Amino acid sequence: MKRLKKTFIIGMIMVCAVVSMIFMGSLGSKRTENAAIPETPSTGVTDPPVPEKTGEPVFPPSQDSDSALTDGEEEPPLMATPHFAMDEYRCDCPDYCDGWPCAMELELLEKIEALRCYFGRPVIITSGVRCEARNEEVGGVSWSFHKRGCAADLYCPGIGVGDLAQIAKELGMNVLPYYGSGYLHVEIIP
Ligand SMILES: [Zn+2]
Ligand SMILES: [Zn+2]
Repeated sequence: MKRLKKTFIIGMIMVCAVVSMIFMGSLGSKRTENAAIPETPSTGVTDPPVPEKTGEPVFPPSQDSDSALTDGEEEPPLMATPHFAMDEYRCDCPDYCDGWPCAMELELLEKIEALRCYFGRPVIITSGVRCEARNEEVGGVSWSFHKRGCAADLYCPGIGVGDLAQIAKELGMNVLPYYGSGYLHVEIIP
């Protein structure tokens, strides 16, 4: 009988323990629920509505007929300035040099870009940088600024050489107009 009583008591203690654990557990969770309430006071004041992010206007991809023809295999040309590819300034000799005996002066490239933008028309570069051999071949003077990337010859279809020279001068370039040949030599002092 004593043994039975003992196991009964132990059993009751265990049941009590389990019940109290469940009770405490539910109490605990209730406490955390209650504790959370003061953190969010309902003062009636709501945060100002967050404006919807409109973001940058999304432009559809440009549908250039040129880019549509190429299957993305050709690499875009390296641009000297927005309207001029770097290749337009390279030495035009057959193979005396690799095309770049020296780099073009950035200041000159920017001034020529400004000239092009002033007239809003294409400007054609007939000579940019020149290697020694090419300069001799075209009869350039030995001290030519073409050899240093500080000169270019150009023309603008529809614009007289005189008008082109005047604006080029105003943009800070030294000019040498060749009226007979219809082009303008521009250069900057490096
Ligand atoms: Zn060359
Ligand atoms: Zn020239």
